[in-house]
Amino acid sequence: MNILVIVAHPDDPEFFAGASIAHWVKRGHTVRYVIVTGGDKGSDAPDMTPQKLKAMRVIEQREAAAALGVTDIAFWDYIDGELANDLLLRRDIAREIRRSKPDIVVTTDPQTLHHGSRGINHNDHRMIGMAVCDAIFPASNNRMYFPELLGAGFEMHYPKEIYFAGPTAPNFWVEVSAEIETKVAAIRQHVSQVKDPSGIEARMRANTFRLLADGRVEYRAAFRRVML
Ligand SMILES: [Zn+2]
Repeated sequence: MNILVIVAHPDDPEFFAGASIAHWVKRGHTVRYVIVTGGDKGSDAPDMTPQKLKAMRVIEQREAAAALGVTDIAFWDYIDGELANDLLLRRDIAREIRRSKPDIVVTTDPQTLHHGSRGINHNDHRMIGMAVCDAIFPASNNRMYFPELLGAGFEMHYPKEIYFAGPTAPNFWVEVSAEIETKVAAIRQHVSQVKDPSGIEARMRANTFRLLADGRVEYRAAFRRVML
């Protein structure tokens, strides 16, 4: 399978779907990332600048992806915190879908406004999820949408499935017991973003923990899976 991960920020692939990405890479699937913004507002340090942070986060993202076995990464140049589900973004996504022709697109769930009763889901995570939906249907597979793409040689393409990460209403799980440690190792590469490195593993295990009827413990990552 050809899997395209489109997310707002450097570190989103690992936080939202890192163990599953490692799981897919291990099984021979091809995974490409598109990181839409520079993540250039992701710091409170008084001496940090957006330019410095953006450069750091490209390096962190490459190292984190490499820990999961992913080397194919596109960095787009949208501004962190300012993503809008507009025609420019949709056209860029439609072009990317037509170019890389994924079977599966992974993005963040636009319906998740808050994480249960704990915290608001970043606007960019919602915007990119919505823009991915709108770029795929109907634009990626309809010649009338963005005719300039067809003129530039980007033939229509329709993926088979979307997996929404961080879902409010999951309906699909990837069994990732063997990949939790790989995910933690990848997240640790995002040095500028991780305030409590020692607590990551416990948090990741708690998020995916499931006790089976026979008493065994399994770790599984949740998605909302939509067949197209
Ligand atoms: Zn993010």
